[in-house]
Parts: sequence; C-alpha cells; structure tokens
Amino acid sequence: MSSNILVVGSINMDLITVLERFPKVGETLLGQTFTTALGGKGSNQAVAAARLGAQVAMIGAVGDDANGDAALKILQQEGVDCSGIAVKTGMSTGIASITVAEGDNHIIVVSGANFALSLADIDAHADLFAAADVVLCQLEIPMDCVLHAAKLAKQHGATFVLNPAPAQALSAELLALVDVMTPNHTELKQAFALSETASDADIAQILPAHMQLVMTEGANGASHYSAEGKRHWPAFKVDVVDTTGAGDTFNAGLAVYWSQGLDVAVQHAQASAALAVQKLGAQTAMPTADAVGMFIKQQMH
Ligand code: ATP
Repeated sequence: MSSNILVVGSINMDLITVLERFPKVGETLLGQTFTTALGGKGSNQAVAAARLGAQVAMIGAVGDDANGDAALKILQQEGVDCSGIAVKTGMSTGIASITVAEGDNHIIVVSGANFALSLADIDAHADLFAAADVVLCQLEIPMDCVLHAAKLAKQHGATFVLNPAPAQALSAELLALVDVMTPNHTELKQAFALSETASDADIAQILPAHMQLVMTEGANGASHYSAEGKRHWPAFKVDVVDTTGAGDTFNAGLAVYWSQGLDVAVQHAQASAALAVQKLGAQTAMPTADAVGMFIKQQMH
C-alpha cells in the first residue's frame, strides 16, 4: 500500500525552554535546558504520514531565517517533498516559544510566514494536487488558503480531509467541500456553531449529507458520524507518557489508511496515536507503519 498525501498547512519551529519556575514580570532567570523541534499541525501531520509509509508532499511557507532552514531540513530528512514550500523573504518562520516549569507550560505562537501563504503559492503547485489521493488541511494557515485547497482537491478528484484545529466557526462554502472532518469535541461545536448540550441526534441533523465526520475523543477513542448514523471505537489501552501530537498522529493515520475503508483507517489511526502517546514529544513519538502493524497484531491476541 502506498498512498499519496498532500498536506497544506503550517510549519513551525518549537523553541522549548525548561526551567525550575516561571519568571515573574520583569525578572530574568537561568533556564535548565533549551531544545528545538519541528512543530505546527501541518508539518506534524506530514511527518507522521511519511513515517507511516505514505508519499507525502507539503504546501506551506517558511521565512528566510535559520528556523526556516532547520524546518526544511527536518522535513526533507523525513522524506517529505518540500517543493511546494514557499520561502518568504524578510519574514520569520512560524515559532512556538514553549516554557516548561512547575509541571505546566506557557506557550507563545508567532505564526510568521504561515499567514503569508497565498492562493498564488498554492496555484503554483497544482501538480501536487493532481498526484494526491488525499489532501489534508488544518486551520493554522489563512482560511482562504484552506478553502482554495479544498476546491483544488475537488477539481483533482482527491479526498479532502479537514482537521478543524484550532477550533473556529467554518463557512458553509468550506463545509460543502469537506469530505472527511476530524474534530475533537470543542472543534466540532465551533465548526458547526453547536450548543454546549448538543446531542448525537443534533450532530446527525447538522451534518451535510456528503460529509463523514470522525470525532476524536482522547482516551475514549473515536466516533464516526454520517448519514447512516453513529459508530464508536474505544481507544487502545496503553500507559500514557505524553499526549502531545496524538491528534496529529491520528489525522495522519486516518489519511494514510483512508483508501482501505473506515474500519481499517480508524483502527490504524488509533493504533498510531496509541503508540505516539507512550513516548515523550510530538514527532519523536510518531510510529512507523511496521510498528503500527505489530501493535495491532499484539492487541488482537
Ligand atoms: P491534541 O491536539 O492534544 O493532539 P486532539 O484533541 O486533537 O489532541 P485527542 O482526541 O486527544 O486529539 O486524541 C486523538 C486520538 O489519539 C484519540 O482518538 C485516540 O485514538 C488517541 N489517544 C489520545 N489519548 C489517548 C490515550 N490516553 N490512550 C489511548 N489513545 C489515546
């Protein structure tokens, strides 16, 4: 099996400082460690899909700075086709400055070049849409780019999968183009402007007839909603170390295995995420297709 996945999404460098306690306003402290890692939902999902054995290309934007160089290098090392990534002169690459202390974290995201991605940047790579089985998007790039990617996916006969994160309301025009949506509970409510108390029946009622919805529910697993009704799969029971990147790994798994049918796709997406939560970090924890296959076999015994 080899699927062609095109990710149109964000690219960040995570700048991670660990220290004993958070500084007060105006205070300078010495930290303990500093590390950098590739982040952003787009590049996380691209790397996760590549680890799972898919042919992956990415459309996105970085700045002409050291973080952009580092991000491109890591994506290339992971086997992601970076020909669709624009380098924006004079702009900074997206960053997430993460401070970890007192068992908690503070995070500042500066989107930088991610929000300079343009329709022209996307149009320049129509060839990548033509080659794609699945086009996978999130909401960390301009909304008009998400909509444009959805239109091009449709034009080229690719399945358009939208992970509507971070949570926000979605236009009717975009909803009409989404084949598969993968929200968590908060994102689902925001995407469809549902009330806090919305029931399964309410969800079934607002769901466009053409759309399949796979809602992720953390340790509770995942549910599929469609015109035919609801199905639920429990999560695999594992010892959790760090759930960072669970959603990104799940989305990659679902996209990579989508052509094999809903059951196989959800099973592999959940197995991929279950392996990811057993290790620290996002991309460091993302499994290979072999590891996922072995894990599923073990779980069946
Ligand atoms: P995040 O953005 O923090 O990655 P998310 O809200 O997008 O999270 P979740 O619903 O938390 O995504 O998790 C995605 C999938 O990962 C779940 O559907 C499940 O398959 C798997 N998963 C998450 N947490 C656990 C857990 N504790 N045990 C087993 N599987 C888990």
